[in-house]
Amino acid sequence: MKVAAIKIDPYLNWDSGTLNPYQHGEVFVTYDGMETDLDLGHYERFLDVELPGISNITTGKVYQSVISKERKGDFLGACVQIIPHITNEIKEMVREISAKDNYDVVLVELGGTVGDIESQPFLEALRQLRNEEGSKNVMFVHVTFVPYLNAAGEFKTKPTQHSSKELRSMGINPDMIVLRSQEHIDDDIKRKIAHFCDVDFDAVVNTPDAQSIYEVPLVLDRENAGQFISDRINLGIDFENDKNTLNEWEEIVNSLKIQSPVVTIGIVGKYVELEDAYISIRESLHHAAAKNGVKMNIVYLSSDVDVKDENELKAFEEELSKLDGILIPGGFGDRGVEGKLSAVDYAIENEVPIFGICLGMQCMVIQFARRIGMEDANSSEFKTDLEYPVIDMMEEQKKIKNMGGTMRLGAYDCKLIDGTKTKEAYGEDLIQERHRHRFEYNNEYRDVLTENGLVIAGTTPDDFLVEIVELPDHPWFIGCQFHPEFKSRPNNAHPLFASFVKAAFDNKEYRNNTEDEIFEKINSNKTFNKYKNSSREERKYALV
Ligand code: GLN
Repeated sequence: MKVAAIKIDPYLNWDSGTLNPYQHGEVFVTYDGMETDLDLGHYERFLDVELPGISNITTGKVYQSVISKERKGDFLGACVQIIPHITNEIKEMVREISAKDNYDVVLVELGGTVGDIESQPFLEALRQLRNEEGSKNVMFVHVTFVPYLNAAGEFKTKPTQHSSKELRSMGINPDMIVLRSQEHIDDDIKRKIAHFCDVDFDAVVNTPDAQSIYEVPLVLDRENAGQFISDRINLGIDFENDKNTLNEWEEIVNSLKIQSPVVTIGIVGKYVELEDAYISIRESLHHAAAKNGVKMNIVYLSSDVDVKDENELKAFEEELSKLDGILIPGGFGDRGVEGKLSAVDYAIENEVPIFGICLGMQCMVIQFARRIGMEDANSSEFKTDLEYPVIDMMEEQKKIKNMGGTMRLGAYDCKLIDGTKTKEAYGEDLIQERHRHRFEYNNEYRDVLTENGLVIAGTTPDDFLVEIVELPDHPWFIGCQFHPEFKSRPNNAHPLFASFVKAAFDNKEYRNNTEDEIFEKINSNKTFNKYKNSSREERKYALV
């Protein structure tokens, strides 16, 4: 079945591109270059599809479209109003997506809470949609939170009763209610909700907190949610006799349950207080761990360190020393950059596998340049009047004044260079990866950086922009200007993440084994090949 997913965000921002990750979590980027809500990332990972940017509808997009139509004269003579003009626009946007690729099912998630003023036009539009498409073709699923009061020792169903009532007052009768809760909810409570909210008992579904989000489809299956939906909108699926529909998913969930051995990866960034800010990276690391048969332990380290303060730097390095691999994610602005640069330096000195993504890759280039003598090397994003702006703004970006949607966005081709670790990881000549940046590796420094050993592993097909750098005689040092995390899937880990996690695991083995055990492994393990011809003394040094 072809399934499209739409996320509606009732805020006024046109897209989420200019929102601080602390406000909104990660900004997801679609292949066609739209900056969207992170829920689209969940949809892509769960459905294993690539959704177009129009799958994220905001109040900003709806109003902008209506107002520009009004300016063009499309509504000449009419008084333009929320109903019908805004609601018509919403319906049109939903239909545009469903028509785009002949989808069988279109899932529309309306964000926010029933009763929010800003979601009302959307609820009204969706109500009209059901009326127009026929109630056999449209169903409503109401997701509610059922709190548990410890002191009273009971679940409270009133919020669900009230929000269902509120929905009914707007003409929307929920066909199914999904109860989010911390613990399992029993049938008596479900019956009570069915009774008061006027839905079938079979249509009350409970999704208590799961160990991993990937378990939720299995929970929904246990609750027979699929069968109810299929019957309700005539999808013709017989879940009882077609159990293999979820076989692959069960395998995915099992592969994510491995408890040992553990690999510890540190994400060194500035939004570490909010895990959602790095959600696709987190998921990609889990997919890669499952692929390698290891358990992923993610540590979030703030890069906001005063590196000039010796004690602070020492404490930071102490934390870094506990990691099997370091990941430097993307970011904007100079806060935390010096900490990221120190982490790059630490990884080079201590041969710890390190993966730089976007700003992380830029930090690798900057730190490499500093190490070979360009002392003030930096990105012109953080400082002007630099002697060595090794990362600089792209020419076409210099003319742009607006901030929203103006970066280099979306999927671009990238050519991989023969003989690099990156090409080995991908096993392909040409890849497509998604971008979101204004700054680039500065071509003026291409020769000097390459001569000194920073290998270019990928460029645009015309050779013009450097997309990937790596260090050949390091266990794993790869930085990419794009965001590979948007393309990782639970059933198909991203090759760079898979290769990075493998190197981190090898590194851990290396650190945790005795010298003799290591010598034995050296001949059989690629990562250690570089030590093959080293003296015992050198190997010992490497062990420390
Ligand atoms: N701030 C950097 C740039 O604009 C990196 C962006 C990112 O990490 N997504 O180029």
